[in-house]
Amino acid sequence: MKIHFTLLMICLPLISFCQLSSTEKYDLVIKKAKVIDGTGEEEFFANILIINDIIAEVQRDTSKSPEGEKVIDAGGFTVTPGFIDTHSHGDPLETPEFRNFLAMGITTITLGQDGFSPEVNDLTTWFNKVDAVRPAVNIAIFAGHNTLRKLSGINYETKPLIKKREVQQQLLREAIRAGAFGMTTGLEYSPGDFSGHQELQELAEVVGKENGIIMSHLRNEDDNEVESSLRELLAQGEFCPVHVSHLKVVYGKGEQRAKEILNLLDSARAEGIKVTADVYPYTASHTGIAILFPDWAKEPNNFKEVVSKRREELENYLREKVVQRNGPESTLIGSGTYTGKTLADLVEDLEKPFEKILIEDIGPYGAGAAHFIMDEELQKILLLDRHINVCTDGSPGMHHPRGYGSFSRIIEKYVVEEDALSLEEAVYKMSGLPADVLQIRDRGRIKEGYKADILIFRPEDIQEIATYENPKQLSKGMKYVIVNGKIALQEEEFEENGYGKTIKKQ
Ligand SMILES: [Zn+2]
Repeated sequence: MKIHFTLLMICLPLISFCQLSSTEKYDLVIKKAKVIDGTGEEEFFANILIINDIIAEVQRDTSKSPEGEKVIDAGGFTVTPGFIDTHSHGDPLETPEFRNFLAMGITTITLGQDGFSPEVNDLTTWFNKVDAVRPAVNIAIFAGHNTLRKLSGINYETKPLIKKREVQQQLLREAIRAGAFGMTTGLEYSPGDFSGHQELQELAEVVGKENGIIMSHLRNEDDNEVESSLRELLAQGEFCPVHVSHLKVVYGKGEQRAKEILNLLDSARAEGIKVTADVYPYTASHTGIAILFPDWAKEPNNFKEVVSKRREELENYLREKVVQRNGPESTLIGSGTYTGKTLADLVEDLEKPFEKILIEDIGPYGAGAAHFIMDEELQKILLLDRHINVCTDGSPGMHHPRGYGSFSRIIEKYVVEEDALSLEEAVYKMSGLPADVLQIRDRGRIKEGYKADILIFRPEDIQEIATYENPKQLSKGMKYVIVNGKIALQEEEFEENGYGKTIKKQ
């Protein structure tokens, strides 16, 4: 015993000496961080030690002074996982720098939304092209159902034959095996709106077998249709997890209405269906003006022919629809000749009723618009639900502040100003929860072995600058945005190189 003890006394200093000398210097050390780790748990203090693109250690003993190639003293700052946006738009081949997202702390975006993905049979080639342009953020993608309809030749068919359905299913299977996270549907858009129960159930079965998920822009988000649309999606939940994109109740109002929607989702969960949703924190949506027009005036029907044959009926429809959607002042044109004007402004400028303007001067495909059709109180209750994460539904080019401000707005308005969410809850909704929704297993948390997507900021510094009038203004307040272990943004200075990469379903 005595000998052993003596040996130990001699060896111990040697062991610690050996450990010290063999310890590599870390590539990046973030010291004395107040960590909110993305799980929703309370903050704690730690040093975060990064090797290459991986969090090698979360060192709770902050009295230690680890060495690093680069050391950031994060004293006084909060450190969180990079934010993950589950519903994004934009083309990485056109705007790989994605500064709108980076500036609000988003390090991973999710494309292929609302049923529309790149029209390619082979996603692998697309992944390679995107990696070659070195995007600034990580990019996840879904196979879009509308695109699958086009690629399989189903297009506008309402009852496609089994042969074409099998082609479509095979395209979906291949997309997921190439790295897509599942399928999105955009049932309010063409040609997805031509699909029925059988086709969607079969596709859900494919998604389930490949362990993917379905994200859906519902068939109809109107107050009187939203429940039946939700039930349509929940039916697909028999086969795979389902996720409601940008959950809202168009022209619905109040806390009670929000609770009815949440109860419907809760009771589906009680039956074993995995269902989640995302919301963006604004009361205006943004989509093509086509949303105001009836199906029979849209493709593949010929609009001119419809106008010549059913003009009165169309005018009546548009008048009712616009009034139902809070009136002409609630549609703000966001592209084309009339950008920045509401339909009410145009009534004055062009001196004719808005339904005539929609038919004669704009047409169903003539503009995108912000539509002020949501109720603040209702949307806030949805946002606070613990199964609902934050998304932007935005892009670098969209005429709507959500593409530049959503995640900053969550911190500025709902955490700092209103105290409606704790910072831990908000960070969970913007990192850990979206990672769980997408089934990304190595991002969305500050944890050993996870990818080093990391934000350093003071919550009170975060500012949404974008407005409806001037939406393309970058958010402010992020001290550092780190993507895959590299500093991508430091105090409003963007790194020229992009450090994001395509991420594939594992
Ligand atoms: Zn959508």
